[in-house]
Formats: sequence, C-alpha cells, structure tokens
Amino acid sequence: MAIESINPYTGRRLRRYAAFSWAKTERILAQAHRAAVQWRTTTFAERAAVLRRAAALLRERQEDLARLMALEMGKPLRDGRAEAQKCAACCDFYAAHAENFLADELVKTDAGRSFISHAPLGVVLAIMPWNFPLWQVVRFAAPALMAGNVGLLKHAPNVPQCALALEKIFHDAGLPPAAFRTLLIETDLVEKLLADDRLRAVTLTGSERAGSAVAAAAGQHIKKTVLELGGSDPFIVLADADVALAAQTAAQARMINAGQSCIAAKRFIIEKPVYREFVQLLKGHLAQLRYGDPLDEATDYGPLARPDLADGLAQQVADSVAQGAKIELAGGQAQPGATRFDPMVLSNIKPGQRAYTEELFGPVALVFVAKDAADAVRLANDSRFGLGAAVWTRDVAQGEALARQLESGAVFINGLVKSMNELPFGGVKKSGYGRELSALGIREFVNQKSVWIA
Ligand code: NDP
Repeated sequence: MAIESINPYTGRRLRRYAAFSWAKTERILAQAHRAAVQWRTTTFAERAAVLRRAAALLRERQEDLARLMALEMGKPLRDGRAEAQKCAACCDFYAAHAENFLADELVKTDAGRSFISHAPLGVVLAIMPWNFPLWQVVRFAAPALMAGNVGLLKHAPNVPQCALALEKIFHDAGLPPAAFRTLLIETDLVEKLLADDRLRAVTLTGSERAGSAVAAAAGQHIKKTVLELGGSDPFIVLADADVALAAQTAAQARMINAGQSCIAAKRFIIEKPVYREFVQLLKGHLAQLRYGDPLDEATDYGPLARPDLADGLAQQVADSVAQGAKIELAGGQAQPGATRFDPMVLSNIKPGQRAYTEELFGPVALVFVAKDAADAVRLANDSRFGLGAAVWTRDVAQGEALARQLESGAVFINGLVKSMNELPFGGVKKSGYGRELSALGIREFVNQKSVWIA
C-alpha cells in the first residue's frame, strides 16, 4: 500500500510519500541506537522538561492537529482537539510520575540489601494504527521516553502527516532528533528491523492479524512485545439499571470515532425486562446523530477512515444478516466504495454468524437478550476478545461481583469504558497482552533488574 494521505470524506489525495529504503531505515536505526546510549544517561528532570514542552506544543498546535486528523482519517474537529489535549495530559502525567514509578524497589532477602531497579531497554519500535493517530503513539512514547528508551514509529500508511507532525513536536520540544523518528516504511521492512539486535522491543496496536504476524517475527528474534489488538466489548444492562442513562451512554460508547475504536462498546447485552425499552432508546439516540464533513463543527460523526474498511464492514453485516441477524435500525453504506457508514442496530445474533465472532470496527451495535445476570456474563465471555466491558446496575455490589467474573482487561460500572493515564490499559485473550498507561505501562519496556548486595 502507498504511503499517502487521502481525505476519506472527499476521496481526494492530499499527499504522497516515497517509502524509505532499507538503507535509509537502517541509518535511522543506527542513529537511534546511538541516541539511546546518550538518552539513558539523562536525568528524570531533564526528560520531564522535554515531555512538558511536548505537552505545551500539543496544546498550542491542537487546531492544526485536529485539522490534520480530520483530513487524513475523518475525525470530527472537536474530537481531534480532545485527542490532542489527552496526549498533552499523558506527557504531563509521565513527566510528573515516571521517576516514582521507576524508583528502586527494596525487597527483603538474605542480602544486606537487595532491590529491583528499572533500566531502559534501548530502541523500541511502535507499530500504530490510524484510528487515534496521535493518542496511540503518545501513550507509547511518553512512558517510553521517560523511562530512558528511544522510539521508532511505523505508523499506519494512511496517516503519514499525523506521524510527521508528532515527530516534529518531540523535536521542537528539545528531544534529541534521533530519539524519536517516524519511519515511512512499508510492512516488509518491519521484519528486517525486528531481526536487528539494535532494536530491543516492539509494541503494536491494531488488528489480530497484524499482532500475530509481528509477535511471531519478534518471537523468532526473542524480542519483547506488547500487543493491543481488537475488542468486541460487552455492555451489560441489568433490569435494575438507569436504562435511559445506559442507552444514552451506549450510543456514545458505540459511536466513539465513528465506531472505529477497540474499546467502543460493541455487544449490548440487556436483561429481558428492559430489553425493548433499551433498544428503542438506543435506536433513537443513534438515529439523531448528524453525519457530515469532519471539518464542520456541527458534525457528530464523519466517514470511516478508508473505503476498504467500510466495504469490509458492510460485508460483515451482509453475511451476518444472511446468517439470520435481524436489522433493527437500517443504516450502513449506500454503495460499495463509499466511506459514509450510518449507524445500524442488529439483533438475533447467534453463534456461527460473523457478527457473533468477529470485531465490527464501525458504527454497528449488536443487541442481545439475557435471561438474567449470569446469562449476561456467559454471553459477554463467549467471545475471542477481552478488552473492556461495562456493567449497568443500581446494585453496585452486584456490579462489582460481575466485574470479577468478566474476562476483560477493564470493567467500568455505570460508565463508559475509556483509557486513562492512571489505570492500566490492555486486554486478555485475542485482545492482546501487556499493559499500557499507569505504572504498569512504563514498566513494560524496562529491564527489571535484581540487585543483591551481601
Ligand atoms: P492493521 O492492524 O493492519 O494496521 C495497524 C498497523 O499495523 C499499521 O501500521 C499496519 O501497517 C501494521 N501492520 C499490519 N500488518 C503488519 C505486519 N504483518 N507487519 C508489520 N506491521 C503490520 O489495521 P487495518 O488498518 O488494516 O484495519 C483492519 C482492522 O484492524 C480493523 O477493521 C479493526 O478490526 C482492526 N484495528 C484495530 C485497532 C485497534 O485500535 N485495536 C486499530 C485499527 C484497526 P500496514 O498497513 O503498512 O501494514
């Protein structure tokens, strides 16, 4: 695939880039490796100063960044501004807490003194997707740089301008240029990078297919990986819940980024007594959202990021309907190749249908009836994925009990699943492994070294 920006709303090509050759990529890797030797010797205060300046620049440039995301992948402006601000907050968070998160941990043993120290690994490769083109990168880069690592970014080929804008922010913030570089490379060079001893680890956010391929290659070369892959998050509503608030939040949770989010709620599992009421309310909220140009302030949701993604989603829906799924709210694509995809609701989702087993990465809500709370948990866990989950109930003790039974990396009770700096983020099962954010995230790419002193 060419490395080019194409406006998904107009179909117009904005920029095209020649992919880096291996010789150029190798040169950048060599520079990054040298930068890692120097960057690891900087103090936390020096690193924090760079991250704080990056945060300030993210805030200062939020209009331009939001515009770039709107143009390259269809995110409405106000969501783009919020994403830039979230990135700034992440930089500030790690600037403030990294030293504490990575402080030596004293452990009582037979030694005079023993402790665990946290040393940087060196060059870490980040393979990132287009859906949150800034956030996915920053939530890797902020902790990695604060830990004393350096980063190489292989971004998705449809968001090269976002990738370059982020690189510029880190450089303008005073980071040594070789300590964070964007590689405009095609996938075939990733394996060559993984085979090189100067590259120490890799993190990937994206599809199961990409995660599996990269982890296999990394495994062959004994490289640490963190994988943040897809999800088919359940959103459980019990009969005693505030159904109106749950339905309103459900629409919001399904429509994050036009439905193109790993932690968007995708399977709405509703206890029988409130099922009809919930479905009616959900349909009402979805139907009133306005489609439009992501550059227009009045737009609620924009196009999907690429025509092939919209075509793929339409096919998943068509196959599921042919397999017995029922359309509760008609929407979708007007014709193949269109990036506009209007919200849909499907019911009668059964094992064997594509919608039951696969992730639907777009604005399609699946509704399920549950006999009771135990049945809701059974349905929720009957998935290959395990990223986030939500439970709605006025009985918080029961909500907490269900949270412990759900197979997911996070459970939110009476709220929308979101990523936040303070809590670890990641999945189980086919949603991946490892954690980002919080103290756990920054410890993924460090050598947790035991030191024993007689
Ligand atoms: P991909 O997973 O293919 O792309 C994500 C990133 O991984 C891109 O940078 C991509 O680069 C890279 N990549 C893919 N395959 C390899 C490989 N073998 N080796 C190295 N890098 C690789 O996502 P798509 O854009 O194709 O979207 C397809 C589906 O993925 C979506 O419908 C959704 O289900 C899921 N997805 C999940 C995301 C999440 O947040 N968890 C985000 C985006 C997508 P390149 O394209 O150059 O190969």
